[in-house]
Amino acid sequence: MSVEIPERLLDSLANAGWVAVLTGAGVSAESGVPTFRGADGIWSMFRVEELASMDAFLRNPELVWQWYAHRKTIIARVRPNAGHEALVRMERVVPHVSIITQNIDNLHRRAGSAVVHELHGNIERNYCVKCGAPYGNEDVLSQPGVPHCHHCGGMVRPDVVWFGEMLPEEEWASAVRAAESADVFFSIGTSGVVYPAASLPLLARRRGAFLVEINPEPTALTDRVDLFLQGPSGEILPALVDALTSIKACRE
Ligand code: NAD
Ligand code: ZN
Repeated sequence: MSVEIPERLLDSLANAGWVAVLTGAGVSAESGVPTFRGADGIWSMFRVEELASMDAFLRNPELVWQWYAHRKTIIARVRPNAGHEALVRMERVVPHVSIITQNIDNLHRRAGSAVVHELHGNIERNYCVKCGAPYGNEDVLSQPGVPHCHHCGGMVRPDVVWFGEMLPEEEWASAVRAAESADVFFSIGTSGVVYPAASLPLLARRRGAFLVEINPEPTALTDRVDLFLQGPSGEILPALVDALTSIKACRE
């Protein structure tokens, strides 16, 4: 696929001091991370709400841990794709790039992005529900069934935001600051239905950012953006960063 990047976007990016990027499950689609709703095998019998909530965990911690152990194993096997990598390269040509992600798969950090605000946590981290002690994946996956804390015996849970839980305060504050400060704001691979994350693109636009969406399908946001680039992020982002890099080189 040859990707046309409009001149007005390249101009805005070439002059931008700060670019903020909100990402959702779609940026990881080309890495092969299964979406929540497209769950495979026996997991398709459960609704996400029955697995990803404190109620579910207290009711049936064994089941919740079976599901997370399954997801952790899948995610450990996948690799960042060309879209994640292009966002890392963007840092060479834009002074300040902030990634705000709804994904828990850690792929932006693994790709090498320097500034990542994780709104929904990170599946590679875990903590004790009683004393808060942090645990890595190796430790919890080596314990059969529900992992327990070595300090206090409490149950250990994945460090992800479950239904009904607040977003981590500092990550959210940093995301809002980035949205308010950005000269260009991208909304990529997100259906824009999970709040409060979905409010960030329009906040950025109200504060003067040039708002761009990248998605193979139109979303609830599409009518309100300055530019919609239709297609997979693993193809559009590399083309965009290549074009920007050559423009910057010419202007220097
Ligand atoms: P979503 O599933 O609601 O929407 C995904 C969007 O990605 C859709 O609009 C789809 O058209 C688009 N898309 C599909 N393929 C794409 C591609 N190749 N390039 C660009 N876009 C593509 O996802 P969401 O908006 O992130 O919200 C779902 C919630 O589920 C989030 O809260 C998130 O925390 C969680 N979740 C995370 C992961 C992960 O960590 N990888 C996976 C599934 C769900
Ligand atoms: Zn503990």
